Amino acid sequence: MLNLILFGPPGSGKGTQSERIIGKYSLVHISTGDLLREEVASQTELGLKAKEIMDRGALVPDGIVIGMIRKKLEEHKGGRGFIFDGFPRTVEQARELDRALSDYSEEVSVMISLEVPRQELVKRLLNRGKETGRSDDNLETINNRIDVYEQQTLPVAHYYDQMRKYEPVDGVGSIDAIFKRIVKVIDGVK
Ligand code: AMP
Repeated sequence: MLNLILFGPPGSGKGTQSERIIGKYSLVHISTGDLLREEVASQTELGLKAKEIMDRGALVPDGIVIGMIRKKLEEHKGGRGFIFDGFPRTVEQARELDRALSDYSEEVSVMISLEVPRQELVKRLLNRGKETGRSDDNLETINNRIDVYEQQTLPVAHYYDQMRKYEPVDGVGSIDAIFKRIVKVIDGVK
């Protein structure tokens, strides 16, 4: 199986590039942000709890996110592989992902990290907020989300770097140009 982590700050293009990657490599896309937004839209107990946290730009507790991931792994085991988008966001989540994959004798193949400067992220997210009305795409929450990324999520890059699985990719440019850079990395690990 090919198990990719698409890593990067909010607004770095993980969702957009995930769609392209799934099309080319037939992987199952797991976005914890999308899964949480589905819970919010369905007004489940979990969704009601998550909404308040997401609107602040903070992280939902590790246990909740890991539970969602384990369920998806079980549903899609035996496929071509997974693309994890917006997960893991803490070192604890990364450790749990490794444990969960090892239950299926699998492991993370590579972490592709989209590198985009902060001012470009803010610009993209404000635009998305205008276009989609996503409630956490307002200036205050955007800044919180980027701060949370720098403080709690960046250590995850170091975690995979120690295992020689960390591959930075320039995330500025056209969607096509960035996709080509990603394909080069994926084809190098396959
Ligand atoms: P995203 O769509 O990936 O930008 O995620 C939107 C929001 O969902 C984040 O700001 C967090 O509040 C929450 N979230 C998504 N993925 C995770 C995760 N792996 N761990 C904790 N919280 C998450």
